[in-house]
Amino acid sequence: MLDKLAIHGGTAVFEGNWPNWPQSTESTRRNLDEVLNSHRWSISGQYRGQASWEERFGQAFAAYTGAGFCVPSSTGSAALSMALEACEVGAHDEVIVPGVSWVASASAVLGINAIPVLTDVEPDTGCLDPAALERAITPRTRAITVVHLGSAVADLDRLVAIAHAHAIPLIEDCAQAHGARYADRHVGRFGSAAAFSMQHSKLLTSGEGGSVITDDARLARRLAHLRADGRTLSAQPPGLDEMALVETAEIMGNNYCLSEFHAAILVAQLEMLDEQLALRRRNAAVLDGLLLSLGFSPQASAAGTTARAHYTYVVRLPQLIVETQGVERFAAALAAEIGLPCKTMYSALNQNRLYQPASRKRFKLGRGYTEEIDPSRFHLPVAQAFSRSCIALPHRMLLANTAAMEHVAAAFAKVAKSSDLRCA
Ligand SMILES: *Cc1c(COP(=O)(O)O)cnc(C)c1O
Repeated sequence: MLDKLAIHGGTAVFEGNWPNWPQSTESTRRNLDEVLNSHRWSISGQYRGQASWEERFGQAFAAYTGAGFCVPSSTGSAALSMALEACEVGAHDEVIVPGVSWVASASAVLGINAIPVLTDVEPDTGCLDPAALERAITPRTRAITVVHLGSAVADLDRLVAIAHAHAIPLIEDCAQAHGARYADRHVGRFGSAAAFSMQHSKLLTSGEGGSVITDDARLARRLAHLRADGRTLSAQPPGLDEMALVETAEIMGNNYCLSEFHAAILVAQLEMLDEQLALRRRNAAVLDGLLLSLGFSPQASAAGTTARAHYTYVVRLPQLIVETQGVERFAAALAAEIGLPCKTMYSALNQNRLYQPASRKRFKLGRGYTEEIDPSRFHLPVAQAFSRSCIALPHRMLLANTAAMEHVAAAFAKVAKSSDLRCA
């Protein structure tokens, strides 16, 4: 029977292949080869007469985003810690963290001994809710982090206004938003600094990697020291075979350096980014239309968004389906129909299995602190409802040809129909 779900042994809606992720080009291989042969595999290796790939990528990504400065880092998590510490956030400071995100948005705050204040999100975007932000600010709030989640941009007009009114630094977590624009400006340009991740799943990737952008030269200098154990690259090229990193020790750091291999990959990947984003945007617009007509709600983005970047394609299921089959079952059935991993959204951070501060001895910094970081003390009704009703499809789906979007919509319709049959 045609209607039998693939997950129950029926025929799948689509059995073809989807594009792979990540993709590489001839330039990726050429750049990697150059690093291999250069005998400089890190910015902490001796200078070989050429700017490091790390500097080249930093300059290219600053130019891409329009930021004054870009300091690459080993991961997006490191980038978040660096951005917070560059803004002088630390022990016992409260930091606003949106209630729906990858766990690193909160664990990076814990990592600098600050207190993640989990704050509710807007129902249609899943991004930080300005009204909830106003309620969460206290005299101890030292930073506001905002996540551009999935394929949405947060309401930057209102969030920036609140941050300014309270004179609190705003840090954008752009790990999922390379290439997204708001009011025609690249995200990450609206606060004091912004963190990006270049981990495997992200829209621009070298497997692992990250970076921080800022327009503030003083922050950029702090960021540079924070990522290289208190050293920074010399302003003038050093002599051949000398160290390019100088022990200025203006601030103590950690080793969060991006390797030359990773930086060289990113230089090549950045050349493809806009074309990939445009293709995803075209396909997402088609799929949005098809799913809307079936009664599903593709994730919305704040009104000021001028270009979306689709990290995950997030869809809210109709309430009836949420109640009858639930998101887990729907996602699993959909995955079987189209042969792609379809996931439920991250659990809200106050009930996320991966966010367990109490499991680490390093956070046992006194009773008061332990209570302040306890995720269960936060009420996030909208975040929880968002997580319980949304599913997320991988962005490589949107790199397929536009005709494939019809298969995706057909699979949604088929799985939804099986839900109707179940409750009939
Ligand atoms: C991926 C991600 C991070 C962490 O980046 P890593 O490179 O994995 O450390 C932080 N925030 C968000 C929103 C992410 O999606």
